[in-house]
Amino acid sequence: MRKSVEVLKESIKGEVLLNEPLFKHCSFKIGGPAEVLVKPYDVYDLQTALSWAKRNKMPVFVMGNGTNVIFSDSGVAGVVIKLSEGFSYLEFSGTEALVQAGFPIQGLLEEAMKRGLGGMEFAWGIPGAVGGSIVMNAGSNSHFVSTRVNYIDVMDLNGKVFQMKHDELKFDYRYSILQDEELILFDALFNFERRPPEEIGRERDLNLRMRRQKQPISYPCAGSVFKNPPTTYAGRVIEETGCKGLKVGDAQISELHANFIVNLGNATAFDVVSLIRKVQNRVYKQKDLILDLEVKLVGNFEGIELLKKK
Ligand SMILES: Cc1cc2nc3c(=O)[nH]c(=O)nc-3n(C[C@H](O)[C@H](O)[C@H](O)COP(=O)(O)OP(=O)(O)OC[C@H]3O[C@@H](n4cnc5c(N)ncnc54)[C@H](O)[C@@H]3O)c2cc1C
Repeated sequence: MRKSVEVLKESIKGEVLLNEPLFKHCSFKIGGPAEVLVKPYDVYDLQTALSWAKRNKMPVFVMGNGTNVIFSDSGVAGVVIKLSEGFSYLEFSGTEALVQAGFPIQGLLEEAMKRGLGGMEFAWGIPGAVGGSIVMNAGSNSHFVSTRVNYIDVMDLNGKVFQMKHDELKFDYRYSILQDEELILFDALFNFERRPPEEIGRERDLNLRMRRQKQPISYPCAGSVFKNPPTTYAGRVIEETGCKGLKVGDAQISELHANFIVNLGNATAFDVVSLIRKVQNRVYKQKDLILDLEVKLVGNFEGIELLKKK
């Protein structure tokens, strides 16, 4: 294995790390090691890493900024591909921006604002990368990143590259078809609208202030744990069932926002997922409602059966 990893290291410009602790790569600060973690520098690196994984019969998991994932305590088998600094090219043309998947969504908004381009003010404060935000169709207050995406460029696990138009992505609330396909989004074309930077700045400040007041952003977490049910808010339901402050180990339902689980220091993935199950049970018993996960569980979570809608 070590020898084979050396071959990969020599063939790409990006980074290759063996047994890399994943807690260092996610906002929850939780998770065991990735068998191999690759940070490709460009599209050729990505192709090389994928063909190496295929040759070695290793599964592949792709991540951006790790702000919507819970990595298991035993880590992740196979190759974790992290699209970050290497994939951060950004180019504006008129009101459009071609941007690579690893570029932070906040950085994209900043650069757009400087050019008097807005329309994505709802996304200020979302801490992911561009790729993750499209895959998750991130958003807030009924506004979604998808409304600003014209097309994306993707690579399949065989290294084949193609384009997908907005309509092919089957966007829905916190959903895109990419969640069900083995495809890697490596860049996207966004469309903005002209807006004075001062106006954008005012809305940014307001949104960031609201987040600071309502969300426990000083603790490691992964944002909202559950999706909102169609007619209510997950946070409200969780609060009504008396779960605020509930703890398993160092994982706690935030006192500030009941749809956030925070890591008080040494929470494990097992703590977090056990707490998720507790909340699901209470909500199901008291409200006859199954709360669906928004966060993605990555790795082995055997032993805890979560409730799922049929
Ligand atoms: C404090 C806090 C606040 C948050 N607030 C919000 C909010 O208001 N609204 C909201 O919607 N979300 C919110 N989130 C969640 C998260 O920031 C978003 O879902 C974000 O868009 C995820 O981006 P990421 O790069 O971190 O993705 P990751 O967590 O790295 O990945 C998320 C999923 O996308 C997949 N993925 C990532 N990149 C790619 C790619 N290039 N190709 C294929 N698949 C890929 C991964 O496999 C994984 O399944 C919040 C999180 C935190 C910690």
